Amino acid sequence: MKAIRRFTVRSVLPEPLQPLEELVLNLRWSWHPETLELFESVDPDLWEATRHDPVRLLGEVSPERLSALTGDRRFLRALGDAVDDLREYVTAPRWYQRLTDAPTAIAYFSPEYGIAAALPQYSGGLGILAGDHLKTASDLGVPIVGVGLLYRHGYFSQSLSPDGWQQERYPPIDPAGLPLTLLREADGTPARVGVGLPEGRTLSAQIWIAKVGRVPLLLLDSDVEENDPVARDVTDRLYGGGTDHRLLQEMLLGIGGVRAIRAYSRITGNAAPEVFHTNEGHAGFLGLERIREYIEQGLTFDEALEATRAGTVFTTHTPVPAGIDRFPRELIERYFGGSNEEGSLPADRILALGAESYEEGDPAVFNMAVMGMRLAQRVNGVSELHGHVSREMFGGLWPGFDTDEVPIGSITNGVHGSTWVAPEIIDLARRELPDIVELGRGWEGVEKVPAAEIWRIRRTLRARLVEDARRRLRESWRQRGASEAELTWIDDALDPDVLTIGFARRVPSYKRLTLMLRDPERLKSILLDPERPVQIIIAGKAHPADEGGKRLIQDIVRFSDDPAVRHRIVFLPDYDMALGQSLVQGCDVWMNNPLRPLEACGTSGMKVALNGGLNLSIRDGWWDEWFDGNNGWAIPSADRADDPDRRDDIEAQALYELIEDHVTALFYDRAGEGGTPRRWLEMVKHTLASLGPKVLAGRMLRDYVQELYAPAAASARRLSADGNAGAKALATWRHRVAKAWPAVSVEHVESTEAGKTPHLGTRLTVRATVQLGELRPDDVAVEVAYGRVDDHDALVQPSYLELSEAEDLGESRFRFTGEVPLDRTGPFGYSVRVVPRHDLLASRAETGLIALPPAPIGMTNGDLR
Ligand SMILES: *Cc1c(COP(=O)(O)O)cnc(C)c1O
Repeated sequence: MKAIRRFTVRSVLPEPLQPLEELVLNLRWSWHPETLELFESVDPDLWEATRHDPVRLLGEVSPERLSALTGDRRFLRALGDAVDDLREYVTAPRWYQRLTDAPTAIAYFSPEYGIAAALPQYSGGLGILAGDHLKTASDLGVPIVGVGLLYRHGYFSQSLSPDGWQQERYPPIDPAGLPLTLLREADGTPARVGVGLPEGRTLSAQIWIAKVGRVPLLLLDSDVEENDPVARDVTDRLYGGGTDHRLLQEMLLGIGGVRAIRAYSRITGNAAPEVFHTNEGHAGFLGLERIREYIEQGLTFDEALEATRAGTVFTTHTPVPAGIDRFPRELIERYFGGSNEEGSLPADRILALGAESYEEGDPAVFNMAVMGMRLAQRVNGVSELHGHVSREMFGGLWPGFDTDEVPIGSITNGVHGSTWVAPEIIDLARRELPDIVELGRGWEGVEKVPAAEIWRIRRTLRARLVEDARRRLRESWRQRGASEAELTWIDDALDPDVLTIGFARRVPSYKRLTLMLRDPERLKSILLDPERPVQIIIAGKAHPADEGGKRLIQDIVRFSDDPAVRHRIVFLPDYDMALGQSLVQGCDVWMNNPLRPLEACGTSGMKVALNGGLNLSIRDGWWDEWFDGNNGWAIPSADRADDPDRRDDIEAQALYELIEDHVTALFYDRAGEGGTPRRWLEMVKHTLASLGPKVLAGRMLRDYVQELYAPAAASARRLSADGNAGAKALATWRHRVAKAWPAVSVEHVESTEAGKTPHLGTRLTVRATVQLGELRPDDVAVEVAYGRVDDHDALVQPSYLELSEAEDLGESRFRFTGEVPLDRTGPFGYSVRVVPRHDLLASRAETGLIALPPAPIGMTNGDLR
């Protein structure tokens, strides 16, 4: 019989062991090796059996063992030390506490979080990044409050059918069996937030708190009694259900999330956030709730929009159209209009925020990324290349501006070292290079670490991965129906001394899981090479609705089922953080072959690099930025081939060649001391020295604080001071400028040097006559854009110089003038533009308004000598 309810009975810890509870309830254990060792020592076998889940461990440990521990002085001392260490960790001042004028608190909203394997609330890169963001914020003392949803079934667990088809299971989680506590009012009743739905219904949620070191993570859970069955299931699964379901999840995350933050501040006295960070479009409705709050304080919609935008940061995470959230317009109308319309938030204003109001936009669609950009004054992509691609993709929102000027920047992702780096590597660093561990500098010292020492650790990690892979393989084959007698081959599957390539990721088509199968015979000969064999370990989940992705997995599984190769290539089901850790630590090479430029950043290769592995990847995302020719291999991209099949052929060929001629050659060339691969280890050292300082999430978080959070807080303060005077002024100004803009034009431009051959080092005086209509000269910036021009007279990465007002010519016409330095030889050109100017704007392009001269003017293609 199936149980209708499931819950976890926790054992009552004897008094001397009570501090274990405090340790378990702070997820810092997930990246703190000493605490993990302490848990292990509670009961080593049970620790393995519970897959390193301390809540389950304490739930299942026998009373006899617990009472033995109460008399174990060494254990009690270690317990005391661990608790002291945690208390010190969560209270001592850190990097952030030395900053001045930094935001008092930052709210971070994300639909998924990958904190620990025991808290399965993530599907892939977006969630893992969010988890690493919170952990790093904690390490640096950044006062973030995370907001997300608690999915009762998380993402799915993956297994395989006998013929290699992905099977999904959704085991329920029991919040009481997780390191979570319920947010309660002072009288002990669980706090509630509600979101209004059409026909007078309400979607209620309770709020679980996960402690991520110093950072509280609030997780909204709609499985509460007062909800109707539909509302109750809103937080059932991550990325499950239809469009309506998805919209309800996002309303709860965004609107309910802001309300949860308010409840949390009210109950705990935590400072109200000055900055709201929207991690991907899914959380975008938070901006609407903040607008509503400002309207409640007496602002108009437009003023509230200014105040909200100033303190909002939006990060876009994917250039893949299917990854961008879009809802049918009428669905938004149904949920935000009709009986559910709030007078202060008219549905048409909301619809306008998500409208694809640009060429090629779909008028029937509400786009969450577009809304994210309209609701945030600061927007970024997650690698330099992705920033560029995003400026191209969303450039239509700022028509008239060159791609380079579209106000979307980038901060390249990073990874949380203590989560992903093997303890052996961290110990080696502590011994040899303490500055790296303590101060985050001194990476160049890596060159001096004995190569044999690195090689010894690499073998340990590879052997551990092989053990783990065999265990998982056996489990998978049993699930597929094999009997023990058929599985003896697994004892010898994989080899701790063979070059090990890892390939693990979600399975959307752009990641090309099966590119390596393009020429199966060639792959076989690479795997089975008698002198230089290769083994490949593969993992990845396809979205449950993605039949194509499941077919790719099946292709891989079928290939690796072949007795001729099954000891050299394996597919391990249920890719999660635990398997991820094992892979990134144990693999020698991390292979990544997405269709450039569709991988926004990618982070797993960074984890591998920090563990002394090497990357073999298409130049996409972060690898495009930091590959330097010596820290791994770049698979050449055939992005000019128009036929996708041909492109796959070319890139697969290149991949095989790299493995055959370079990767294996280097790995098996054992010319070094004691039979070590000398040149390989040089490359490993160079990888650590060159990438170490860049790929850690500490760099990423400092970038976010300095480039986005602190400026956003400064803007928000300026707008909210004196009863929101700045917000009111900016809204009035923006309205006035937009209304007057059609009359603004550049009438005439002239320069002194026209006609003569200009020389390097001289200056060009530019004079522009502009018509400003109702505007005043200080409402605008008149700028000359100048620099190199290409064959089509387009300025290439121009410089800008603001002209100054010289003369009032009457009838709203003004002459502006300035001197352009002729500082480079070759083809040179310039143009002039008028853009709105206000010191509360974050970029020149922000309003999307621009006036350009009617026809090409200036001295294009003039040759400077
Ligand atoms: C690091 C990680 C990811 C993200 O990796 P990508 O490089 O973006 O594919 C996804 N899942 C798990 C389990 C990870 O550890």
